[in-house]
Amino acid sequence: MNEDNVMQYESQRNAEAATREITKLMRKIRDSEEKAERDALTGLLNRSALVNIAEEFLRDARNNGKKLGGIFLDIDYFKEYNDTYGHAEGDLAIKYIADVCKGEESSQMKFFRYGGDELFGIVLGWEDKDLEAAALRISEAIRASGIAHVKNPNGQRLTVSIGIVNVDMKGSDETILDIIKYTDKALYHAKDRGKDDVFAYHNLPNAAHEYERVER
Ligand code: GH3
Ligand code: MG
Repeated sequence: MNEDNVMQYESQRNAEAATREITKLMRKIRDSEEKAERDALTGLLNRSALVNIAEEFLRDARNNGKKLGGIFLDIDYFKEYNDTYGHAEGDLAIKYIADVCKGEESSQMKFFRYGGDELFGIVLGWEDKDLEAAALRISEAIRASGIAHVKNPNGQRLTVSIGIVNVDMKGSDETILDIIKYTDKALYHAKDRGKDDVFAYHNLPNAAHEYERVER
């Protein structure tokens, strides 16, 4: 190899090494971006990811006259669960419930860890009956897991209360905060009515009832 060839060979190797480094770096950045969007315990999306996805869903719903729905879950008597079985078991219970929710995820339904024992799901373009069915499936899967919770008067096993809403976004100026507020109201109605249940909130002024129990 003459001197020119050697230099050309070396610079090609340097360029290849630099490309490999850049690829590695980009993968790291992508991984950390992905991690920053996810809750460490459950692997569910976190609240900052919720803002981005909600914006995307809201735009689609408004532009295309779709419904935008929400589903809010909160574990029943969870303080007592921690007190009885310990915080580590409590963590496992949250993870289990998150996994059930993950099983329902699709491009039109995403779940988030909203707070300690609260999970929130956002749903784009669904029929009311499909959202109701998904909420019932989740509540039933958790009840049917038979995870013991001796301090829960509803069957001495782990249960959740759920609030849902499905808002027609055609010509509506409601935002994701309204959706969260409605589902929160329905969830707290379920808590007031004895927990381990699904309630829907009706946001229309002419609705016969503000809250409606979703029959199993
Ligand atoms: P309710 O039936 O009305 O929902 O009552 P609750 O006992 O579930 O009470 P609440 O939802 O107000 O309290 C949530 C509890 O969840 C309080 C806190 O100790 C527990 N918690 C919050 N985050 C975590 C967590 O990451 N791990 C565990 N193990 N517990 C948590
Ligand atoms: Mg709770």
